[in-house]
Amino acid sequence: MGEIYDVVIIGSGPAGLAAAIYAERAELNAIVIEKNVVSGGQVLTTYEVDNYPGVRGIGGYDLGMKFREHADSLGADFVEDEVLCIETEGKVKKVVCAGQTYETKTVIIATGAGHRKLGIPGEEELSGMGVSYCATCDGAFFRGKTTAVIGGGDVAIEDAIFLARLCKKVYLVHRRDELRGAKSLQKKLFSLENVELVWDSVPERIEGENKVEKLVVSNVKTKETKELELQGVFVAVGINPNSAPFEGLVEMENGYIKAGEDCATSCPGIFAAGDVRTKGLRQIVTAVSDGANAITSVERYLTEE
Ligand SMILES: Cc1cc2nc3c(=O)[nH]c(=O)nc-3n(C[C@H](O)[C@H](O)[C@H](O)COP(=O)(O)OP(=O)(O)OC[C@H]3O[C@@H](n4cnc5c(N)ncnc54)[C@H](O)[C@@H]3O)c2cc1C
Repeated sequence: MGEIYDVVIIGSGPAGLAAAIYAERAELNAIVIEKNVVSGGQVLTTYEVDNYPGVRGIGGYDLGMKFREHADSLGADFVEDEVLCIETEGKVKKVVCAGQTYETKTVIIATGAGHRKLGIPGEEELSGMGVSYCATCDGAFFRGKTTAVIGGGDVAIEDAIFLARLCKKVYLVHRRDELRGAKSLQKKLFSLENVELVWDSVPERIEGENKVEKLVVSNVKTKETKELELQGVFVAVGINPNSAPFEGLVEMENGYIKAGEDCATSCPGIFAAGDVRTKGLRQIVTAVSDGANAITSVERYLTEE
């Protein structure tokens, strides 16, 4: 400890990196704490981003690097550490990390979200041995093989379309009899000959000896079970906010930190930006907009204090 920062930004996904850029331009004494070796957050696991203005069809990794390079070029400070909790007694807040504790006047929580798990037998044991949460990251390992995607939203459909280019066959297992994802994606999916929809079905267990060999699904209407012989299971059933370190500190709703467009939380001087906060649309463009808004709120808070 020693120095007291104007703002500590937790997380270096799009929200945290946008906040870092705005903080540097506002000449705030800021530091970004990121637990991963690489910045970019969820964007890193995105094969292609085609809806961020100005950079059509860019690889997710490349976009993440561009954001980070922009922040670096303005002189933003980064440390690699994991935030465990924030202590708010007294005027100065303490951001407690695994390695060190940082003192600051304000905090922006931009910890984003992570993959939701299925919670079925075999998932944990075979994770990394055929069970994956990122088709764009791991799809290439399944060239010519048979895989299944679990889910029915945009990400599940995108994953199935992506895998269909590489795999011999792709099952899409969905608990309902229609998909939730965008109609344009559905049209593309239904046109693919090597994709088989497994409707009204939920995964029961994943089997295999040190590698995935079988997915057992059960039909929610008929209760019949079916065994799918395959080598890969891609889980795309949504995301969970990374908000556990802040439980009891700020108000939450279904695990998301309650905050509006100004990113202000129930705790004065603590702001939440990006996927971790309550909002209607979780995308890169809304995350970076939060980063900008959060710094504006930080500046206002510091002036008023
Ligand atoms: C497969 C996939 C495809 C997607 N495709 C698109 C797309 O095409 N277009 C689009 O606009 N959006 C897309 N998204 C959504 C988009 O990636 C997210 O909305 C966006 O990344 C959210 O940014 P964020 O900064 O809020 O959080 P994140 O990107 O989740 O970043 C959070 C960061 O915080 C760090 N962190 C978490 N906890 C701690 C801690 N305790 N201490 C320190 N650091 C911590 C994490 O390591 C991470 O780097 C996609 C998401 C996924 C998963």
